[in-house]
Amino acid sequence: MAREIPFWDKKVETASRDELNTIQLVGLKKQVEHACQTVFYKDRLAKVGIHNGDDIKSLADLKRIPFTTKNDLRSAYPFGLLYGSQDDLVRIHASSGTTGTPTLIYQNRKDVDMSADTMARSLVAAGCTNKDIVQNMMTYGLFTGGMCFHYGAEKLGMTVIPTSSGNTLRQIKFMHDLGTSVVHATPSYLLHLHQAIEDSEYNRKDFKWRMAVTGAEPHSEELRQKIQNKLGIEVYNCYGMSELNGPGVAFECIFRDGLHVWEDRYIMEIIDPKTEEPVPDGETGELVMTILHRDAMPLLRYRTRDLTHVITEPCACGRTHRRIARFTGRTDDMLIINGVNVFPSQIEEVILKEKGVGANYLIIVEKKGVLDKLTVQIEVTPSVFADDARVLASLAKRIKNAMSALITINPVIELKEPGSIPLATGKAIRVDDRRPKE
Ligand code: ADP
Ligand code: ZN
Repeated sequence: MAREIPFWDKKVETASRDELNTIQLVGLKKQVEHACQTVFYKDRLAKVGIHNGDDIKSLADLKRIPFTTKNDLRSAYPFGLLYGSQDDLVRIHASSGTTGTPTLIYQNRKDVDMSADTMARSLVAAGCTNKDIVQNMMTYGLFTGGMCFHYGAEKLGMTVIPTSSGNTLRQIKFMHDLGTSVVHATPSYLLHLHQAIEDSEYNRKDFKWRMAVTGAEPHSEELRQKIQNKLGIEVYNCYGMSELNGPGVAFECIFRDGLHVWEDRYIMEIIDPKTEEPVPDGETGELVMTILHRDAMPLLRYRTRDLTHVITEPCACGRTHRRIARFTGRTDDMLIINGVNVFPSQIEEVILKEKGVGANYLIIVEKKGVLDKLTVQIEVTPSVFADDARVLASLAKRIKNAMSALITINPVIELKEPGSIPLATGKAIRVDDRRPKE
């Protein structure tokens, strides 16, 4: 018998293009109205003749609005994008900025609820139900992957175990003892979990584990197949980013063939990152998103830097919200290390604050087992190099602590002799990403 297709809100999920266009226009007008009252957007929009929501007459007016970038969010730190009163905020998340200044995401009560609703809808599309027990292995805290997923899963009525990341043996014990059926984790952690179960006293067949929701880092279809085969589960791709409310922006339905973008909640554009013009449907470009369902922090035409394309064929599930393909990369130099976003500029910022460092450094990312390992090689000055081993050790420790405080990853710091890191002949090569391209 054919599998029944589950819906959270069938009417909206199967709305006609005309209906979706109407929802988007109403949403865009409201967002622009809000944006015009924020410190950040007010003048920007006034410059292009937009003073309030009524200046948006049709969806074609979207093009008049300038793009917003991650650097813009940094420049608006902390509350330049706030609409309404700060007293109404119930939560603030943060994402890594390209340097030490983070980018903030603020939500009022309604926003938290809408974000949970979007997440719940995504989970239902993938076949989760209120009978499922889900172990959320994404980091809780400032990062949206933990809490925003959690609220959505609770809204759906799943039983959520907020284990957060790490402590694999305890994860396995809970999975086994509590009958966990769904896991939310990065693809690399799923592989790690598989290995740890194999090495443990437990037997895979005693688990009720049936599916995983995965995202936060790029991964190939081959890797998904590998995880599915090894673990004997279904794996669903979930795309999100903090600026857009975290996970659940685009999600796979039970057909697992591309990710539906929830078009009543986001306006999606795919542009050529160089010309900034839209690419024809089906061609790869940068995803640009306008958020429609957030009150406290409008975000218009946000450059995600993520590369993908629209899948033009309709989906077998009957949802009308268009799908995008698995991501093929980014337009910037952001690294994703064990699911955590790291910009080389953040690492550089820490290094350059230290007096004893020399002219060159190199960021090395490798696979160690199934997890990523970050090493930063840094040349020191001749006088520091000639100094006592203790001076070097304390310098390395200071840099390591400062880096792990900023990027939340523990790097290995290798201090090197002056001139020992090969200098590039052209543009400096600061990153050596040795991870196999899956
Ligand atoms: P997340 O919780 O989704 O990791 P972040 O804001 O920390 O949120 O990171 C967002 C970035 O992570 C995206 O811009 C994208 O580069 C990457 N990312 C998130 N989900 C996926 C996915 N399913 N596939 C590929 N990359 C992803
Ligand atoms: Zn579908």
